[in-house]
Amino acid sequence: VGLTLFRNARIHTPVDPGRPAAGSAQGRTVSWEKGTLLCGDGRIVGVGEEAAVLGALDAAARRGLAEVDCGGRCMIPGLVDPHTHLCFRAPREREFLARLGGADYLTILRSGGGILSSVESVRACPEEELFAATRERALSALRNGTTTIEIKSGYGLALEPELKQLRVIRRVGRETPLTVVPTCMPAHAVAPEYAGRGEEYVDLVASVMVPRAAAEGLARYCDVFCERGVFSVPQARRILEAARAAGLGCRMHADELHDTGAALLAAELRVASADHLLAASDAGLAAMAAAGVVAVLLPVTAFSMGKPYARARVMVEAGLPVAVATDCNPGSSCVESMGFAFGLSVVQMGLSVDEALTACTLNAAYALGLGSTRGSITPGRAADLLLLDGETPGILAFRTGISAVAEVYKDGVRVWRASEGGASDPACPPRGAAGTGAALEAL
Ligand SMILES: [Zn+2]
Repeated sequence: VGLTLFRNARIHTPVDPGRPAAGSAQGRTVSWEKGTLLCGDGRIVGVGEEAAVLGALDAAARRGLAEVDCGGRCMIPGLVDPHTHLCFRAPREREFLARLGGADYLTILRSGGGILSSVESVRACPEEELFAATRERALSALRNGTTTIEIKSGYGLALEPELKQLRVIRRVGRETPLTVVPTCMPAHAVAPEYAGRGEEYVDLVASVMVPRAAAEGLARYCDVFCERGVFSVPQARRILEAARAAGLGCRMHADELHDTGAALLAAELRVASADHLLAASDAGLAAMAAAGVVAVLLPVTAFSMGKPYARARVMVEAGLPVAVATDCNPGSSCVESMGFAFGLSVVQMGLSVDEALTACTLNAAYALGLGSTRGSITPGRAADLLLLDGETPGILAFRTGISAVAEVYKDGVRVWRASEGGASDPACPPRGAAGTGAALEAL
């Protein structure tokens, strides 16, 4: 096995407590000012002071080392984005402008905008074209430091177009360096054909669409938009129970606009994550904390919509493990940069840099069921690493809006470097199904 030695790096990583990091553990990190990292076969072999890391090797292994001089740059784990709607045809840019001009959601919906316009365009979009658009966004996320990403369906809202989205999402995982976690979300909105017949649509989702996505091996999780006027708590329960019976993990869009009791359901079902939570009650948050459900916060959406941010400090203090995601989607938050989400987490939501680092790496990986293989710089884990143009992870907040990501390593292989190729040239060799670290998890 060829070994690679990264020397002269300021290494900074969350400490993994063996479960999502909550409370004071959210801010627990370890760092080495003159750190060294050894990796082989896509995994981290050793990390620490150079003498200690090299001391564990025999003379022959030392002679065969490839070396990377990190030049004193900060090294952190690759960023993990646990909530995106990246699989769409085109962003709804004009709708954003209309909203800035004061148009409300119903006005936008009446003029043919809103989620249903994305549904129409995804349904009509040839699979190849949908793949090209999704791949382009995924590579942009990669250039901004994301090495693992969750992508949801939810713009098909009928069996075939939902499966088409999930096939596209699987292909993005196979043909880019990213680890992609696919989520089936036909319960994103009631399909237009079922307007006024929500219960019938829930029947279709629970008895046909979700089981079929699971049977075809196209999804790992199922998500439901549980919100007043969309899917009720009893409907969400029904869909998620069907998903679990089909072998899928569960996650929820919970209490984004109104407190409907979705956070309580998330706790009761012990879903992997409950996301948004802007309107969640204290009782809902306490129940989630007791059940160990990860709270995924989406500050880029709040930024884009000009809305208040989630109560991140209250959640950390209540003992909830907090993760952060981009929510990248064609309507309300069309920015696929986890670095930007990191910056907003610190500057706007009041997380410390260390808490934000855990939120954007370790806890996000746990929210996707990957906490034991990715999300921290720990021997045995995948060597998903970033080199930042800065001395600490705080550079991501200090330079919010500008990518501080200098180099991206996926499973020990450099897949992007800022100094080569422009922003439009990702120079990302596909990892392929048999990529170096792919054996860590069968996705
Ligand atoms: Zn969402």
